[in-house]
Amino acid sequence: MPKLLCCLLILLSIVGSAQSFQKIHNKAVVIDTHNDVLSTVTMKGLNIEKDLSGKSHSDIARFKKAGMDIQVFSIFCDERFGKDTAFKYANLEIDSLYAIVGRNSEKMMIVTNPVELQQAVKQKKLGCMMGVEGGHMIEDNLDHLDALFKRGVRYMTLTWNNSTSWATSAFDETRKKDSLPHIGLTDFGKEVVKKMNKLGMIVDISHVGEQTFWDAIHTTIKPVIASHSCVYNLCPVPRNLKDDQIKAIGQNGGVVHLNFYSGFIDSNYNKGKAAFLQKHKQEVDSLKSLKWANYEIEEWTAKKYPQEVEAYRPDLSQLLNHLDYIVKMIGVDHVGLGSDFDGIESAPKPLDDVTSFPLITKALMERGYSKKNIEKILGGNFIRVFKANQNHEL
Ligand SMILES: [Zn+2]
Repeated sequence: MPKLLCCLLILLSIVGSAQSFQKIHNKAVVIDTHNDVLSTVTMKGLNIEKDLSGKSHSDIARFKKAGMDIQVFSIFCDERFGKDTAFKYANLEIDSLYAIVGRNSEKMMIVTNPVELQQAVKQKKLGCMMGVEGGHMIEDNLDHLDALFKRGVRYMTLTWNNSTSWATSAFDETRKKDSLPHIGLTDFGKEVVKKMNKLGMIVDISHVGEQTFWDAIHTTIKPVIASHSCVYNLCPVPRNLKDDQIKAIGQNGGVVHLNFYSGFIDSNYNKGKAAFLQKHKQEVDSLKSLKWANYEIEEWTAKKYPQEVEAYRPDLSQLLNHLDYIVKMIGVDHVGLGSDFDGIESAPKPLDDVTSFPLITKALMERGYSKKNIEKILGGNFIRVFKANQNHEL
């Protein structure tokens, strides 16, 4: 073939594939089940109605560019909040989301049920859902669970890294097992799960300890989600999911939404990070003495020395390996995306912020996933679980 013709054909095929992945992405209902921008950006005084490129992973304009249809915003505070403060703080975050949506009602709407979800898609507005990340925000009170549901919260992660009086976390079950007063769900913890089933609030098992996981999966009568977790066998960190847990989620009809955090995808990243933090020990220690949380220190240092962090960043194919692993084990109906953007200091190359979402669609096509299966992964599977959790009596 003449050289010029050959080049032209290659160029045409590149342009063609670019168009087709973007077309599939635009047509699909794209749902991200976990983004921390409210707690890490909005509550710190930055306004996502403005362009925050370089300062955050997300803002309203970039959600649009990402082709995002439904974003589940994490309502989060850490273990420094507890009795009389955690529930209040959760409500402040919810207030801020309502205020943002109120000011931008031509571009955004709150979504609390599958009908509203379809309306948001049809009207080309960003559908805003809420998930409470950490059972400590109900402060051991089922009335608070009711109140959060009434305000629109549609999933709750039973624990964050901190345990509650009724559920133990992956962090605590692996590192403090001997000093815990109980392991797994207490009777009250099982009441919480049953109440969530009754209300129509999805049980999220990301972050929970293995015993809590098994107690929850044996208690729930509705499909669960992992809103932002990866595969333990590919990256053995305590809060990733082991094979028997993944199989149980498949049998339950649930969905594992993959976290984009480099440290949950690639164990080499964690080695690189340990060396990096050691190198900057002086700064790390002084931030610790100011009572900064570890995740805040990691984010701050990563932003200060971006080139050093870049050196040990994994690539997108490694995230896709987690996806393939789950698909091979329990099928394509049980996997989705829960980026954790704005809650992580690093995602695989070239996922720099939310606008990278179409690149995942492209990578899925390159791995041979059909259009139908891509639509399931991007959002269809979550919609199925959301519908199955509805309480039609309400
Ligand atoms: Zn999390």
